[in-house]
Amino acid sequence: MKTTCQDIINAMEAFAPERLKEEWDNMGFMLGSREKVVKRALVALEINDGVALEAEKMRADMIITHHPLIFRGLKSVTGDDAAGRRLLSLIKNETAVYSAHTSLDAAEGGVNDALCDAIGLIDIEPLAPSRLDGYKWGVGRVGVLPNETPLHEIAVKIKNVLNAEFATVSGDSKKMVKRAGVCSGAGSDMLRFAIDKGCDFYVTGDVTHHFAQNAVDSDIGLIGLTHYDSEVIITPVIRDLLNEYFNQNGFDARAFASEFDGATIRLVH
Ligand SMILES: [Zn+2]
Repeated sequence: MKTTCQDIINAMEAFAPERLKEEWDNMGFMLGSREKVVKRALVALEINDGVALEAEKMRADMIITHHPLIFRGLKSVTGDDAAGRRLLSLIKNETAVYSAHTSLDAAEGGVNDALCDAIGLIDIEPLAPSRLDGYKWGVGRVGVLPNETPLHEIAVKIKNVLNAEFATVSGDSKKMVKRAGVCSGAGSDMLRFAIDKGCDFYVTGDVTHHFAQNAVDSDIGLIGLTHYDSEVIITPVIRDLLNEYFNQNGFDARAFASEFDGATIRLVH
C-alpha cells in the first residue's frame, strides 16, 4: 500500500501526540504536502547540511526530525543564509519534513526514556508533572541504578554507552549515587525538580559554569553531556517504530536513521 506523509504523521502522532508539546514549542508538519507519497523516510536529530545532502543522495521523500526545521518566524527564505539555502534545497527536491520536538521529549518511550535505558535506570517515574491532565509523563525522568555507584564511574559508563564525545562531572566524583534525574537536551531549568525528588545526581546536556555551580551548591552530582549526545539516541528508536508501523499496516515504505555525524562540539585531547 502507498504511504503518504499523513500516514507517517499519524504514526508519529500515535507515539508522541502533539498535545504533549510545551507551550513555547513550534513542532509538527513543517514542510510539504500531506498527500505526498513516501517510499523512503530519513530520521535525524535535526537537518543540517550533512543530513540534507544525505537525504538528497538516498532520495528520501520525507525527513523526520527531533529539532524543528522552523522554530522562530521566518522573515525570508533566500540563499543568503544557511537555513534559507537548506529550505530551498528541500523544496526543490520535494522533501517533506515533520518535526516531533517536546512531544517526543515527554512521550513514553521517547528521548528521555531512551536516555534512561542507555544509563541502565530502573523504576522510572516522571521528573516533572505532565502539562496534560490524565497523562503521566512530562519532560524528564527519575530512575534508580540497580546498585550504588561512584558518580565518576557512572559518568564513564554513560559516555561509553552513548559513544559520546565526552561527559563532565560536577560535584564530588567519588560520591556514591543511586537515584538519578534525567533530562535530555538543555535541562538546566529542570534541576530543581531533581533536587525536590531527592536525586543523588542529574544527567543533562548543555551544562554551563553557572548551572554546574548551582548543582554543586545544592549538593547534587551533575553529569553533563553535549546536547547532541543526549538526544541523538532517539533516531534508531523512531526508525524502528516507523518500520514496524509500515510492516504492520502493509505500507510500502522504509525508514532509515541518519548516519551523518552532526556533533557540533568536539573534544581536543
Ligand atoms: Zn534538543
